[in-house]
Amino acid sequence: MLIVFIGPPGAGKGTQCERLANYLNVPHLSTGEMLRAAHHRNTPLGREAARHMDQGGLVPDELVTQVVRQRLDLGDCNNGCLLDGFPRTVVQAEDLIAYLADRGREVDYVIELCVPTEELVRRLLDRKREDDTLETIQNRLRVFEGQTTPLVEFFEARGLLSRIDGTADPDEVFASIRRCVDGQPSG
Ligand code: AMP
Repeated sequence: MLIVFIGPPGAGKGTQCERLANYLNVPHLSTGEMLRAAHHRNTPLGREAARHMDQGGLVPDELVTQVVRQRLDLGDCNNGCLLDGFPRTVVQAEDLIAYLADRGREVDYVIELCVPTEELVRRLLDRKREDDTLETIQNRLRVFEGQTTPLVEFFEARGLLSRIDGTADPDEVFASIRRCVDGQPSG
């Protein structure tokens, strides 16, 4: 089962993906983690990605799709995986769909975790990761609004989108996600 998680920074995607990956026993792929790892290994791709990440902008589509394609090629996702933070743009979504279609596969579910902006800023300031300052946070939320909202519409138009209230207690959020992936026939 291939599940895409969409949600602004701070919505709880990482936490919920971790739990769902354990529950379904499939890999959890976070492009943010993959790009940070490439930066720490100091690869050319990692250095290029970091220039954008440090400013709270998106890493260019061709770099991210390359990272994801290489990761999916490893084959451990053939029975499914969770995509956390990818796709983030319509171009990335189209690339993913084309990659999967070439292999006779498709996206099964897209889960959007919804949390109001004030709550996101509060959570992100509490979290204090190296790229989390008020300025980068505000930029990342703007980027999310501008580039990821069309993505939500893209998946909604394909009947794949489930919206989940991300402000509820994490156990309740997880229960809603489980109902969504358990309760519907696989795409
Ligand atoms: P995250 O850990 O998902 O919050 O991602 C941290 C940063 O990595 C983002 O602010 C972006 O700069 C970059 N990033 C992660 N995933 C993507 C993606 N799918 N497309 C472009 N940039 C990404």
